[in-house]
Amino acid sequence: MCDMKSAFDAASGKKTPWNPSRTATARVTNPLPVPTTCPNCGAAVGLVNNEEIYGMPYGDWPWAYRCADLACNSYVGLHPFTSIPLGTLADAPTREARKKAKSAFNPLWQSRRMSRKEAYAWLAKAMGIKSVGDCHIGWFDIAMCERVMKVVNARNKK
Ligand SMILES: [Zn+2]
Repeated sequence: MCDMKSAFDAASGKKTPWNPSRTATARVTNPLPVPTTCPNCGAAVGLVNNEEIYGMPYGDWPWAYRCADLACNSYVGLHPFTSIPLGTLADAPTREARKKAKSAFNPLWQSRRMSRKEAYAWLAKAMGIKSVGDCHIGWFDIAMCERVMKVVNARNKK
């Protein structure tokens, strides 16, 4: 990343991925490293304003890591006010699968039948993931997302 830009952001006090919030960064448990190559095609990854993806800035923290090969169409957002990726770079089918997995899973805790923490502990166990810290839908591939839907649906039928 460009040092001039980082120095400018720090001097102006403006929060950007080059001048992230220390407290927000400290709050992210199990941060993934900043991606440098695309896991889907091997091309370089760049940090972009998500305006380049959506046509207008989207959200409070409008940044994304994006694959330089636009045909690959892989990207991922960042934890707000940090430079930490929310997950691994996802292509369109993976983004769709993660969206579906989240809509299946989130009602478990949004309904307040259990806390968010309890819901993730349950999901990790159901998925056979040893550490709940490794259980993030943003890290999952399509097959794992399909398993999320399967275990949540099975639970809902009980
Ligand atoms: Zn790619």
